[in-house]
Amino acid sequence: MTTGRLILTPDDPYSLFEPEGVAVLLLEMGIVGEPLREVADNAFAAGEDLMRWISFTGCSPFLRFEPSGLGDEDFCHVRITVNRGNAPVFHASNNTKPPLCPYCRGAVREWRSLVEGWVAHGAPLRCECCGNGIAATELNWRRYGGFARGLVEIFSVFPGEAVPVPALLERLTQTGTGTGPWRYFYWKP
Ligand SMILES: [Zn+2]
Repeated sequence: MTTGRLILTPDDPYSLFEPEGVAVLLLEMGIVGEPLREVADNAFAAGEDLMRWISFTGCSPFLRFEPSGLGDEDFCHVRITVNRGNAPVFHASNNTKPPLCPYCRGAVREWRSLVEGWVAHGAPLRCECCGNGIAATELNWRRYGGFARGLVEIFSVFPGEAVPVPALLERLTQTGTGTGPWRYFYWKP
């Protein structure tokens, strides 16, 4: 049982970045501190200025910044994850709500099986409201999930209880990541 994660990722789900460059940027901004190689590759302790760039609501005073023991992942730290496969990886949670059709904004209710078909065979989803064929990456996931190849993951965040300040997404967009604009969503694996 984990709390969840706040995911920062380029708007374009196919976009990829070099993790080293993003790590340097996050270090300069004080979002990450020292590497936590014993936890995972490309895992970093939360930096001193993390709370300036990500505004926590809810029970942030109870955030824990140290693992409780070996194998504990559910403490506030940052990981940079790059999926080198050609296709973006789907991130959804048990409580992911139906995504919206980009054409008619209707909810796609049977999305789990439709998305599985798209991932496995590239078969377009058919919107039950307007009949348009849609790639699963085009659906509006409303921050409940999404597709991505490159991610900055902030661990131990309840969905909706932490929001990146706009300047953080702007810095990621502008500082040579070469990815175009960035967005965010919540993921509870
Ligand atoms: Zn539709």
